[in-house]
Amino acid sequence: MGQFLMVGAGLSGAVIGRHLAEAGHEITVVDTRPHIGGNCHTERDETTGVNVHVYGPHIFHTDDAEVWDYVNRFETFQPYKNRVKTTSLDPKGDRGVFSLPINLHTINQFFGKTFRPEEAHAFITKEQADTSIEDPQTFEEQAMRFVGKDLYEAFFKGYTIKQWGMHPSELPASILKRLPVRFNYDDNYFFHKFQGMPENGYTAMIEKILDHDNITVKLGTTFTREMGTAFDHVFYSGPLDGYFDFELGRLGYRTLDFERFEHEGDYQGCAVMNYGEEAVPYTRITEHKHFSPWETHEGSVCYREFSRAATPDDIPYYPIRQVKEKALLEDYVALAERAEGVTFVGRLGTYRYLDMDVTIREALDTARGFAKTLDAEETAPAFFVAPV
Ligand code: FAD
Ligand code: UDP
Repeated sequence: MGQFLMVGAGLSGAVIGRHLAEAGHEITVVDTRPHIGGNCHTERDETTGVNVHVYGPHIFHTDDAEVWDYVNRFETFQPYKNRVKTTSLDPKGDRGVFSLPINLHTINQFFGKTFRPEEAHAFITKEQADTSIEDPQTFEEQAMRFVGKDLYEAFFKGYTIKQWGMHPSELPASILKRLPVRFNYDDNYFFHKFQGMPENGYTAMIEKILDHDNITVKLGTTFTREMGTAFDHVFYSGPLDGYFDFELGRLGYRTLDFERFEHEGDYQGCAVMNYGEEAVPYTRITEHKHFSPWETHEGSVCYREFSRAATPDDIPYYPIRQVKEKALLEDYVALAERAEGVTFVGRLGTYRYLDMDVTIREALDTARGFAKTLDAEETAPAFFVAPV
C-alpha cells in the first residue's frame, strides 16, 4: 500500500484522499491554514451564531448525478435556490432593486413595461440588442449583442469593472456567457438540476469526507518539496507557480476583501445583493443567515465584498486568464509535466476557476486515474485533466 500526501485540505485534497484511503492507502493531508475546507470553509460566527461562508458565498449546484450523490453521502443538503438581487440605476437615473439573472421581471421593472414573454423578447432583440455584432468576442460585445446598452450599463459594466479591474472590452465573452437571459419570471441564478446547501456547512461535510482511519490531517503545515520526498506520490492543490517557488514569475489573481458588519434583524432580505454602479466601491453584500433559511437568528452578519489585484501576500481567488497569464501558464505547465512524483489538482494547482461540483468530479476522476496507474505500475501524469 502507498503513502500519499495531499497538499490542501479543500475539496480536491479531501475527495482524492478519501478515495485512496478507501482503497487501503495511507493518506496525510497538510494545509497551511488552521482549518480544513479550503475556500469553501464555513464557520459559526461567535456573536450571531450564523454559519458564515468565510471566503465568499458558495452555493452548490450541479447536473452531475454522481457528484450530487457523493456530497449527499456525507452531509444532508437542504433545498436552496440562489435568487440574487442587484441595486442599480434605471434608464431615468432612479435607483432600484432588480432581479438577476436578467428575466422578465427585470426587463419590465427596468423599462417600466408590462410585457408578456414574446413582447419582451421582441423588444430586447429588435429595439435593444446590437445585432450588427455578429460574432461577439469580448464581454462588452456579448452584452451589447444580447441585451443592449441600457441593461449592459446598469447591470454589467460597472460591476465587471469593479470585479475584474478591467474594462469589459478587455475581457472574453465567455465570462458573461455564464449568466442566462430569461423571458419568463424564473429568477433561479443557476439552471442545474441539483441545487442545495449543506445543512451544517461545507466544512462539516469536508470533515466527514476526511474522517477515515487511513487519513491524518495536519493543519498549520505548509508543504515543502523536501516534505514530499517522504511520500510515494504528492497531490498538490496549492498554487501551480508556488510549487516552483515562482521561478518563472507570478500568475495573476484577483483577491477579495470582506468588510464584516453586524445588524439586528434582517439587513437586506436576501443572501446576495449585487451593486451594479461603478461608483459604489463594493461589488456585493452577502447576508449569511439567508444561506440557512431553516435556521433562526435574531442577529445578522454581513460581508461587503471588494475585489482587487492580488499581491504576493494575498489569498488568490480568481485566476486572471488574459494573454499574458496564459503564456506564463503554458511555461508552468511544461515544468509541471517534467516534475516527478506529483499531480497538480484543483483550482490553484491547475489555475482555473472551478465550481465545487467540477472540482469534485475532477478529484474523483484523478483518484481513479491514479489508482489505474498503480495497478499498471506506470508513472502518474502531472495532470489528469487538461489545465489550459
Ligand atoms: P481550495 O479550496 O483553494 O483549497 C486549496 C487548499 O490548499 C487551501 O486550503 C490552501 O490553504 C491550501 N494550500 C495551498 N498551498 C499550500 C501549501 N503550500 N501548503 C499547504 N497547504 C496549501 N463554487 C461553486 O460551486 N459555487 C459557488 O457558489 C462558488 N462560489 C465561489 C465564490 C468565490 C468568491 C470563489 C473564489 C470560489 C467559489 N466557488 C464556488 C469555487 C470553490 O471555491 C472551489 O470549487 C473550491 O474551493 C476548490 O477546491 P480546491 O480544493 O481545489 O481548492
Ligand atoms: N456580473 C455582472 N453583474 C452582476 C453579476 C455578474 O457584471 O451583477 C458579471 C461579472 O463580470 C462576473 C460574471 O458576470 O464575473 C459572471 O457572473 P458570476 O455570477 O458567475 O460571477 P462570479 O462567480 O465570477 O463571481
